[in-house]
Amino acid sequence: VFAHVVRAPEDPILGVTVAYNKDSSPVKVNLGVGAYRTEEGKPLVLNVVRRAEQMLVNDTSRVKEYLSITGLADFNKLSAKLIFGADSPAIKENRVTTVQCLSGTGSLRVGAEFLARHYHEHTIYIPQPTWGNHPKIFTLAGLSVKYYRYYDPATRGLDFQGLLDDLTAAPSGAIVLLHACAHNPTGVDPTIDQWEKIRKLMRSKGLLPFFDSAYQGFASGNLDADAQSVRMFVADGGECLAAQSYAKNMGLYGERVGALSIVCKDSNVASKVESQLKMVIRPMYSNPPIHGASIVATILKDRQMYDEWTVELKAMADRIISMRQQLYDAMQARGTPGDWSHIIKQIGMFTFTGLNVEQVSFMTREYHIYMTSDGRISMAGLSSRTVPHLADAMHAAVTR
Ligand code: PMP
Repeated sequence: VFAHVVRAPEDPILGVTVAYNKDSSPVKVNLGVGAYRTEEGKPLVLNVVRRAEQMLVNDTSRVKEYLSITGLADFNKLSAKLIFGADSPAIKENRVTTVQCLSGTGSLRVGAEFLARHYHEHTIYIPQPTWGNHPKIFTLAGLSVKYYRYYDPATRGLDFQGLLDDLTAAPSGAIVLLHACAHNPTGVDPTIDQWEKIRKLMRSKGLLPFFDSAYQGFASGNLDADAQSVRMFVADGGECLAAQSYAKNMGLYGERVGALSIVCKDSNVASKVESQLKMVIRPMYSNPPIHGASIVATILKDRQMYDEWTVELKAMADRIISMRQQLYDAMQARGTPGDWSHIIKQIGMFTFTGLNVEQVSFMTREYHIYMTSDGRISMAGLSSRTVPHLADAMHAAVTR
């Protein structure tokens, strides 16, 4: 009965790893997937995460009962504090509802399903370009996806005027997806001044902000600085949604830990919204898994462990920043034609190199370097050892 099923293509991002795994070359490098690697090219489990897990294992009072539909209560409270700030008036006024979800993706999907059922405007504007999963998540949840201009290939920076023009033209009430920091795939973020202009425009038009925060702490190494955009939109007293992921900043990728927060007008609305979030979650997966959220809660509620986390987080962010400098220096040393300063200007895990599909496929074919076809490379997958090889490949691709 399934013989008619047509084979689906590999996921454009995860498919890069599939191709990489099939390559037997000793010099192969995987810069496709956005997962942190050490200088030795190995995945990293943070020491503080190991310690939290040990504490959880040793605590024999812990059982494996189901969590509630909304997840671990401590985790939810601490997650809201992490993104909105410990002294956020919205939290104090009890007008934030937070539910534990399956990492960033699950948080976006639950938020989108809620909006499709309970929000009057079903159009969501997402940046052009954006993380490849965004349009699929929102479309399948029943929203209608439109794009706003974001990236200017000529400057390899923000198309700020295009962004403002497109949001100005959006219907009042439309939802707008904003990357809280470290925009994926471009690594281009608005400045604080630009964020303020975006905020004013969106509030004046009644556009509803939906923040995707997948890289808090990963962009600058500072958790507060990376949440500033979100906090500006909460400080003005307006509503917004925020999807948080602990995949990158705590290295909990496969544990699937995240949270969706909805900032409402008052506590009465927030509690009604939460009741409807339960109606979204229950028929999808009943309730979220307990282990990853317990790790996060253990770390966030203990001052010393929290501090330890921030040190390890900063070390990851700093290594990525140093990879940017090393790659930029290597391109300079080779005298590769063109301006490569965007490598050090862009922020977060990725560099949007500006290489085209043809150049990317040349680099994969001749140099065994794997990346998404839009020319995005994960700086977190690079090391001092692989930078020269990548620079050689980029130089060859540009000059051939
Ligand atoms: N949003 C963005 C912009 C991302 O880059 C990612 C991870 N690649 C996610 C959300 C969600 O990731 P996860 O579901 O693993 O938390």
